[in-house]
Formats: sequence, C-alpha cells, structure tokens
Amino acid sequence: MSAKIIDGKQVAADMRAELKIEVAELAKKGIVPGLGVVLVGEDPASQSYVTAKERACEDIGIYSDDNRLSIDTSQEELMELVQKMNKDPKINGILVQLPLPKGLNEAEVLLAIDPNKDVDGFHPVNVGKMVVGEKAFLPCTPHGVVQLLLRNNVKLEGAKVVIVGRSNIVGKPLANMLIQKSPTGNATVTVCHTRTKNLAEEVARADIIIAAAGRPNTITTDMVKDGAVVIDVGVNRVEDATKKRGYRLAGDVDFEAVKEKASLITPVPGGVGPMTITMLLYNTVESAKRAAGIGD
Ligand code: NAP
Repeated sequence: MSAKIIDGKQVAADMRAELKIEVAELAKKGIVPGLGVVLVGEDPASQSYVTAKERACEDIGIYSDDNRLSIDTSQEELMELVQKMNKDPKINGILVQLPLPKGLNEAEVLLAIDPNKDVDGFHPVNVGKMVVGEKAFLPCTPHGVVQLLLRNNVKLEGAKVVIVGRSNIVGKPLANMLIQKSPTGNATVTVCHTRTKNLAEEVARADIIIAAAGRPNTITTDMVKDGAVVIDVGVNRVEDATKKRGYRLAGDVDFEAVKEKASLITPVPGGVGPMTITMLLYNTVESAKRAAGIGD
C-alpha cells in the first residue's frame, strides 16, 4: 500500500495562519514582533533564503529589519550590529544568515546574540536549556520535524526513532527533543552517522526514520520496515538533463520505492523545507510574547 504523503506546505500554511491570528491579537495590545536579519555578502542561495524569510515575516505581520552587508564587512562591524540589535526593543529575534564569508568568525557572532533573541536556537544557552528540558528556543528545522510528526498524529511515546545524521543543526537537537520526558518526546532514539557499523540494520528497526545525511538514496526500501514513518530532511541537487537548471532537488530517501512500504512519508521538496521558516516565525512571536511578559 502506498504511503500517505505528509504535506509540509499545508502544515506550514496552517501554522502560519495560526501565527497570523496571534500576531493580529498582539497588535491590539501594541506588540509587534520584530526580526533582525543579517546577510553578509551576495551568495545567491543565502540571498534567496533571506528574501523568503523576510517575505514570510511580512505576510504574517512580523516587522523585519533587513541588514544586507557587503562582503568586506569586518568582524567588528558585524559584532556592533549584533550588539545594536540586542539592545533594540523593536527586535525580538536575530537571524544571522550562515555561512558567513571566509574571514568572519561565525562562532563569535552567534555567541554575541542575546540568548533571549536567539530565534535560531543555536546559542549554547538555548542548546543547554533544550538538553535539560527547560523552555528554550528550539532550532527551526528539527522543531519543524517534530511539528510535522505531531500534526500528522504520529505517536512518539515509546516509538523507536532512528535519525541518520548527527549535525548540530539537525540530528543532535532532534535526538534531544525526541528523548525529552514530555508529550512531544518520550521516544527511544538511535542516532546514526558515517561510523555507524550497519546502517541498514539500525534503520530497519525504526518505527520512525529521520534522514538528515545530505546524500541522495541513503535510505533505500530494503532498510525500511513495513509501515514505518519516513521523514526526509535532506536537500540534494541531483543532475537532471530534463530540467532547465540541469538539476532537480532530491532528499536522502529513495522516495518512489520507499513510499510503497512506508505508512507516512515526506516529499522533497514540499516536506520538511516549508516548516523551517515557519518555526523561525513561531520563535520570533514567542520571543515577543516573552519580552512583553505574556509568554508561557
Ligand atoms: P551535515 O552537517 O553535512 O551532517 C550530515 C550528517 O549525516 C553527518 O552527521 C554525517 O555523519 C551523516 N552522514 C552523511 N552520510 C552518511 C551516510 N552515508 N551514512 C550515515 N550517516 C551519514 O548536514 P546537515 O546540515 O545536518 O544537513 C543534512 C541535510 O539536511 C542536508 O541535505 C541539508 O541540505 C538538509 N537540511 C535541510 C533543511 C531544511 O530546511 N529542509 C535544513 C537543514 C538541513 P558524520 O558526522 O560521521 O560525518
């Protein structure tokens, strides 16, 4: 039986509609959430991500403070801008688009962001809070994955989850979220990576497979248990002469074959991708509520 396709665009649209209503309610109290965006240089992919984030803010009523800096911006100038935004009460979230151009110290910039405005959830204070189960800004992509699972009624409690990938932005935070003693966690999690001895054997045990390796066809149908839920975080360019651009986007999962075995599966594009910006908007609204003393 063919799997139900998880429609990330629809879940993201539902969440954005909820956020839009919340932002309108906040506006009545004189609260306008604000996101400070910093882009250094002219990397085309980063430019399009930043533009998409700014448009998404505008669409739901979040104020966005757009800072596009030239490639020769110094570390000092960048640090000053972060400090200025840390102090600016109109800004509730700060987003520094990564990667920064060579010569700039990313770690120093991320550490300088006020943890109360760290809507990407990368500051060690937020990472630490997440690990110990305190309220924190959760990193957007893994939080988006959790929301996709919850909003598709996937039972996490007691589920065997196998995550392929252990990066600081996807695999590690996701594993931490899913093992928390909470209704949005309580799973039993295995994290695999390039030194995992028998990937197929590990993945075959999973009720929920989360692929975040950044390599096409990492998850093939022989590895997938009948009825497993499959979430594909990967975004890879695969050569395709039939496309004008010469490539198409593909995830880490052999989608066409695996969808015949899974019960639920995300496509690429249109699965996890749309959730990432949505969770950034969510964190920015949360931050504005906390700053106004009305967050939970
Ligand atoms: P990353 O930093 O390159 O990490 C990849 C991880 O996968 C590493 O832990 C690596 O293991 C592991 N891995 C790679 N090949 C493997 C294999 N054959 N078997 C087992 N493990 C393997 O990547 P990332 O930043 O986490 O991103 C992962 C993917 O998600 C990329 O395709 C990226 O574009 C995509 N992504 C999408 C979104 C979105 O919004 N949709 C957001 C973020 C990332 P080692 O640690 O041993 O090297």
